[in-house]
Amino acid sequence: MKHLIRKEFLEKGYVFATRAAETALASGHTRPARLASNENPYPPSPKAVKAAADVLPHTNRYPDETNKEFIDALKKRHGDYRFVASVGMDGIIDTVIRTLVADGDRVAVATPTYSYYGLAVQAQGGVTVSVPRKADFSVDPATFCRDAAGTKLAFLCTPNNPTGTTETPETIAEICENYEGVLFLDCAYIEFDGTDYRPLMRRYWNLIIGRTMSKAYSLAGLRVGYAFVPEWYGPVYQRAATPFTLNMVSQAAAAAALRDTVHVKKIVSVVQEWRQRFIDECPYPVVPGGANFVMVDVAPQKADDVVTELAKKGVIVRSCASFPGLPDHYIRVSIGEPWENEAFIAAITDIYQP
Ligand code: PMP
Repeated sequence: MKHLIRKEFLEKGYVFATRAAETALASGHTRPARLASNENPYPPSPKAVKAAADVLPHTNRYPDETNKEFIDALKKRHGDYRFVASVGMDGIIDTVIRTLVADGDRVAVATPTYSYYGLAVQAQGGVTVSVPRKADFSVDPATFCRDAAGTKLAFLCTPNNPTGTTETPETIAEICENYEGVLFLDCAYIEFDGTDYRPLMRRYWNLIIGRTMSKAYSLAGLRVGYAFVPEWYGPVYQRAATPFTLNMVSQAAAAAALRDTVHVKKIVSVVQEWRQRFIDECPYPVVPGGANFVMVDVAPQKADDVVTELAKKGVIVRSCASFPGLPDHYIRVSIGEPWENEAFIAAITDIYQP
């Protein structure tokens, strides 16, 4: 059968970090602290849960192909921008790549960062051009534009996964002004930071801002992503998207979650308080960041060793050794429930070796 498969899919794919979970289990921890996937540890808004349950009996029909309920909720929340929606932000990333990238086209990626951009570009026959971030993991606009010259599309994540680094709106504006392709700004974690890039949508023809309901809104399991897109790009996106992007249940829940601003604010402030405690109490240096996770520099120890040690103590975190462009002494730790966060602080303090 092998000869039938496209070379891009013969091996590898998205790597899920499961080894630490196995180590924790083997060490007798049946309920470990799960701090490896940047999930929201709190359940979604009860209003979202009810909205989802209410539409279940009607799922014999196809959903509304215009996603009107969700788009209306987005406009109420953010203002009168043009939006598109998909199955998670991963679905948005896929569709955007499909619209712009043909065989052999080059796509810039500010590195180190989220691995799915590269995989999705490769799946479309495109070629990734890594644009290195600075030593402090921020992006220098002039370097970025120089290295990304000639590419059609560029990915920049802020706050960045896994470093947590957030760019200023001025940096993004400078890139939009000097880059000739489309800049995809991945803002999966932006609610935990609060920087507002939305006004840039009114100024630049080449900016797409991707967002997700998976993180601050606790709907990772329902798979809802959306993006602010320029006016000209909306119809292009619709042509490339699957006919029904959001299912009925996800759409109802996502719209209700967006409307429940009190719930999301509470969650964000708890996460921000814990982020500060991680910075203050972790014995290793923590990279300053704006997400619902932190990146910790465990040098002179190796990331993989620290991850295994923590797993033995019942705390699952992510080694960053597999992120291209990062040295092997960083771990990424999501902010979880208070008992999980306490468990992390205790365990990392225990294994600390200066
Ligand atoms: N972008 C970044 C930076 C992410 O970390 C993730 C999820 N881990 C995504 C996009 C995809 O999110 P979604 O759940 O909306 O597909």
